[in-house]
Amino acid sequence: MNHSTHSEFKRWPELWESACRVLEQTVVQNQLHAWILPLELSEVQESDHGLRVKMSAPNDFSAQWVRDHYQKAIEAALTQVTASPCELQFLVKEARAGAREDAFELTESRATPAPIQAPAPAAGVVAGPGSRSSHDQPDPRYFFENFVVGASNQFAHASAIAVAEHPARQYNPLFLYSPPGLGKTHLLHAIGNHLIAMNPNARVAYLSAEKFVNELIDSLQHRRMPQFRAKYRDSYDMILIDDIQFIAKKSTSEEEFFHTFNALHSSKRQIVVTSDRPPKEIEGLEERVRTRFEWGLVADISPPEIETRIAILKSKAERDDIYLPDDVATFLASYIKSNVRELEGVLIRLQAQASLTGAEISLEMAKHELRTAVPVEGSNYTIESIQNAVARHFHLKIQDLKSSARNRSVSLPRQIAMYLIRKYTGLGFKEIGLYFGGKDHTTILHACAKIESNLETDQPIRDAVEAIQNLL
Ligand code: ADP
Ligand code: MG
Repeated sequence: MNHSTHSEFKRWPELWESACRVLEQTVVQNQLHAWILPLELSEVQESDHGLRVKMSAPNDFSAQWVRDHYQKAIEAALTQVTASPCELQFLVKEARAGAREDAFELTESRATPAPIQAPAPAAGVVAGPGSRSSHDQPDPRYFFENFVVGASNQFAHASAIAVAEHPARQYNPLFLYSPPGLGKTHLLHAIGNHLIAMNPNARVAYLSAEKFVNELIDSLQHRRMPQFRAKYRDSYDMILIDDIQFIAKKSTSEEEFFHTFNALHSSKRQIVVTSDRPPKEIEGLEERVRTRFEWGLVADISPPEIETRIAILKSKAERDDIYLPDDVATFLASYIKSNVRELEGVLIRLQAQASLTGAEISLEMAKHELRTAVPVEGSNYTIESIQNAVARHFHLKIQDLKSSARNRSVSLPRQIAMYLIRKYTGLGFKEIGLYFGGKDHTTILHACAKIESNLETDQPIRDAVEAIQNLL
């Protein structure tokens, strides 16, 4: 287990923020706002069995309520975030402002400068430069080793490694882009962590473009621009800026970023930025800034293939010590195709459910979680609803459709089911095969082609398909 260091204790606010993010996945919005966000993390102590965490609630009643209803979920979330077992204790916050320090014997917490609070929405995180060095560090949970590589992200991953190993050499800046939830932020932290691992003296800053903007505004207001400039232009060997599209249409910020960029680039510091779209599609971005982005290497990440999605799930499950059966991994991966964060979210929810109910994660539980009726993205029908309709029409069991029986009374309905699933869900042949007892993709391809051509010539097949579509 990790030993507690000062820097870890300084990360408390982030720890609770991360835990809240996990809890968002399991607790409904209004409950979250009513009971969980008002909690504060007041003490974290390391014991032989993990972490002992004290949380304070605004009053007796809410302390009692969270203890009764959310203790397990909060413990699971904290455990997930810290990777250590956490034991939770609830206290009631002193009414008097500032009394918190007297309320508990705070040991290491004196090293914690910021008030510990539930996360506020992203806006308004304005603080003066220099006051938050720990916030600018890359997040140690994201590294290259826990990034699963597949065709969709191979190029971005290789570029990120190249930059981490040889900063400011070949690719400066590195510009990574993708739709949300596909690993840009992960890679960005990984670059920083890799550099620090190789060279512990390397000075690396990770920040969101939003933070850059907020800090800039704050520095302008408080006449601290010289400090701001010194900080960003001179004090780092590598700067990682997330979601750079945020600076578009903010002319002062863009101007400042432009000069920061030039200063860094000309003194051979590495710059890596991410965005939700390529430079030329960032609306309202100044031409000269866009040009700078295109000086280096631009790499995109596309949604991962099914194998990669399964591998990601398995790797997360292994990391968090979650028992995830293969059929569940396949099931989740075929339903959630375009966002790894969502994929992770479902896994976290299933894990929370499993730990709350004491049952193991199962296909049933996963289906229930996705309510079985959740159609494959982009379709109105689920694989299951189609298989059901076909089975009903032909008076068969779903099991028959998934079997390898070759008599025509089973094989024809099976082929029709494959054809309809392909038609209505757009899933790949390989994925469809997984829902028919793991049949080879050529079998599905053959079935789809056969039914398609039979539809033109074979009246009974045409009638059957039509009847099933009506059932749907
Ligand atoms: P983005 O910044 O592109 O919106 P993130 O980097 O925040 O996406 O990724 C969302 C979540 O998905 C993170 O928890 C990240 O660790 C995870 N993730 C994304 N891609 C991968 C991958 N290839 N391997 C492992 N985890 C991944
Ligand atoms: Mg991101």
